[in-house]
Amino acid sequence: MKGDLARREPGWIKAWQERRLYQRIRETARGRPKFVLHDGPPYANGDIHIGHAVNKILKDVIVKSKLLAGFDAAYTPGWDCHGLPIEHQIEKKHGRGIEGNRMRQLCRAYAAEQIERQKADFIRLGVLGDWDNPYKTMNFQTEADEIRALSQIWKQGLLFRGLKPVNWCFDCRSALAEAEVEYEDRDSPAIDVGFPVADAARLANAFGVPESSVDRVARAVIWTTTPWTLPANRAVVVHPEFDYQLIRTDGGLLILAAALAEQCLARYGSVGEVIATARGAALEGLELRHPFYDRASPIVLGSYVTAETGTGLVHTAPAYGADDYQTGRRYGLETDNPVGDAGRFAELLPLFGGMSVWDANPKIIDTLRERGALLKHATLRHSYPHCWRHKTPIIFRATTQWFIGMDKPGSKGSTLRELARQAVANTTFYPAWGRARLGRCHGSATGACRFRFSCTAKPRNCIRRPKRFSIRSRSASKPAASRRGSR
Ligand SMILES: [Zn+2]
Repeated sequence: MKGDLARREPGWIKAWQERRLYQRIRETARGRPKFVLHDGPPYANGDIHIGHAVNKILKDVIVKSKLLAGFDAAYTPGWDCHGLPIEHQIEKKHGRGIEGNRMRQLCRAYAAEQIERQKADFIRLGVLGDWDNPYKTMNFQTEADEIRALSQIWKQGLLFRGLKPVNWCFDCRSALAEAEVEYEDRDSPAIDVGFPVADAARLANAFGVPESSVDRVARAVIWTTTPWTLPANRAVVVHPEFDYQLIRTDGGLLILAAALAEQCLARYGSVGEVIATARGAALEGLELRHPFYDRASPIVLGSYVTAETGTGLVHTAPAYGADDYQTGRRYGLETDNPVGDAGRFAELLPLFGGMSVWDANPKIIDTLRERGALLKHATLRHSYPHCWRHKTPIIFRATTQWFIGMDKPGSKGSTLRELARQAVANTTFYPAWGRARLGRCHGSATGACRFRFSCTAKPRNCIRRPKRFSIRSRSASKPAASRRGSR
């Protein structure tokens, strides 16, 4: 049989279009039970590939089979039009620093062109649908509806502003998504810093030794590869279940995790005698002094501390780490954020005001040395996050973001999470495990959740990043680099 499909297929599809086949089928099917396939729209960036083809053809088979089974089966194609990949394309072509309105115009025009190209290819695949009236996230009607939905959330008092640490590029002067972070090797200063214990009696009590054993100032030792975060230090975290030792050395009394003490002392070129051992939980609330500012830095607990590197005590600056931030929220610590958009300390910051964080690193190390707080300074070559555009090192930094509270009761008494759970409960799932998967997202307060805002696992959901062509909600991003136990 000679199919001659390369020639005949386009003819059939053209005929479907000319005869308005989809519209005529829908008219014929009017009044039958409805079957609506809600399509997860492709992104309006680049020509279609085999992934698009498989996805669209499988969905088309479903819609057509439901039509033949006697349903009024509708299919409205759609496109996701907002976000960073499109902005990146425009910046590649037109350069950076484009004025806001012009930027949005260019992004809109680019997305529109991509949609037309993809649409022609989808039609060519034989997919039947309402191609004249597609759903686009950049339709003004859709955008207005999103604003209306947001206003409902605002009216219920669920919209609030807060700080959240994000990956930050000083050259972009903007937050980066996870996909925009690359890892390259970089030399960082690795320092061991002693925080003096303020209350000797409380320390003796925590370790169960007589106060006379604490005859010199004891220091709790942290290890960090980011000295520039020390000005924002607000606490030192220990693991509640690790053993910590009070050790007499020729350099004074030190507090170190038992599992790491030996290698720490070797690093300091020191030997020591263990006076006593205590569980981390016993040290909670013990007041330390900041190594160069006149303020307290308490010991607090965190089960994310590891005994792999460092000292087993973790310097904590709530503005500069995800774990740090959560610990700060738990203990009501201040989220100092002295670093500006371009990577310089605020002018008013004592000792290091106006300096870039990279220039401040050696100055901070000098200050620690002068004050007798520096136990060791080495250079560490490690994998460090960089900006994919600028190839420059980035930092993790708190920025102001808008949030939607998932666990705050609204004006009708229910929380958004409860409403989402109800909606899941009232839905029949095929296959049934789909419900369990969605239910897990609702149930956990910490689990990673890929679903959008209506079922987010997070207690509060970040709704805006500082981008110019986006009004979409998205769940809070994860940190680029886990620095557990390493800073
Ligand atoms: Zn950058």
